[in-house]
Amino acid sequence: MLDIEKIRADYPILDRKIYGRPLVYLDNTATSQTPDEVVKSVLSGYTQTKANVHRGVHTLSMEATELQEAARRKVMEFINAPSAEEIIFTRGTTEAINLVAASYGGAFFKDGDEIILSVMEHHSNIVPWQLLQRRTDLKIRVIPAKADGSLDMDIYRSLFNERTRFVSVCHASNVLGTVNPIKEIVAEAHNHGVPVLIDGAQAAPHMKIDVQDLDADFYAFSAHKMYGPAGVGVLFGRRELLEKMPPYQGGGEMIESVSFEKTTFAELPYKFEAGTPDFIGIAALHKAIDYMESIGIEAIAAHEHELLEYTTLRMTEEIPGIRIFGTAPGKCAIISFLVGNEHHYDMGMLLDKLGIAVRTGHHCAQPLMTALGIEGTVRASFAVYNTIEECDRFLAALSRVSEMLR
Ligand code: PLP
Repeated sequence: MLDIEKIRADYPILDRKIYGRPLVYLDNTATSQTPDEVVKSVLSGYTQTKANVHRGVHTLSMEATELQEAARRKVMEFINAPSAEEIIFTRGTTEAINLVAASYGGAFFKDGDEIILSVMEHHSNIVPWQLLQRRTDLKIRVIPAKADGSLDMDIYRSLFNERTRFVSVCHASNVLGTVNPIKEIVAEAHNHGVPVLIDGAQAAPHMKIDVQDLDADFYAFSAHKMYGPAGVGVLFGRRELLEKMPPYQGGGEMIESVSFEKTTFAELPYKFEAGTPDFIGIAALHKAIDYMESIGIEAIAAHEHELLEYTTLRMTEEIPGIRIFGTAPGKCAIISFLVGNEHHYDMGMLLDKLGIAVRTGHHCAQPLMTALGIEGTVRASFAVYNTIEECDRFLAALSRVSEMLR
């Protein structure tokens, strides 16, 4: 059993009052809070070791570089990547996907080619591919979801043809909580010789990721959703693919030599890391991973699951007119819902007045909303520091708000 009160002591923000009531933070899917240890790492980065990486012979620069490269090795271990050169630091999942779409798609997609996405993708796994359509006649084919929010795998298998060039899907949906059968998705794509990018933004905070076991070609995630700092993300890429991809951005750090006649590029991973990275944030991501591992990723998931089960059951039994979107077995701790005809925005605003932080709207997944025939939902999502008492407060507030709006 986790000592949640001890864990909560690492998060001063959880002591805040909102409109005089204790904050119940249930917007963890959007971003999780950051424990003291990670914040201290950022502070120490600014007060003790700040120097630009890879450019200096002086001690501070070497220390800052070592912190960054130690973080790269940590990320490699965290997702069981074969080598640190296959770990590229980005600003987040969004930039990681843009990198692959622009570099891989830009170099290798031809008119008439097709890619496969799923209906439950976040806009950041849709729009970067659509940007390619400005210069290539690229067709996007979409895997639909079944009523419980799981992907229709029969239809997925039927979408492949000789023009299919790429598959890009989320590991876990930020709306439905569905955890997709990634190994099966990848195996099918590989049978057709097609590489797969996995958007792991909602998986990395909640489950053990093993890119070799998944046989992933690319895997992307964001530090801020896993107790880490904002502005840092990771792209894992299979070496053979990264080697043949052109750079995404040009600038310092990503070159071997520059002249006006000919520029040559640095080796992996630096070829894809133009400019000064957020080396302080990257070192803080290292601490965030240490933090998650010190609690235990399985223990985090088990705790979140308990909160999910408890809250889902009570919502279903106690809130008349409740509709929960996403009921697939094994889902992660995200509850998207509507109550009767009440507007998600009104509910979110009133819940905030009672101290409850939830997210409302389309959650950057408008195609999914269209498929569900709705404009948006209210979304409550859990992290390791949430408690059953907070779930009770949320349920009481939800009951009150639904009655007020009825
Ligand atoms: N993909 C999924 C599934 C997400 O939930 C999010 C953020 O909510 C993103 C991608 C984008 O992440 P970021 O804004 O950190 O780049």
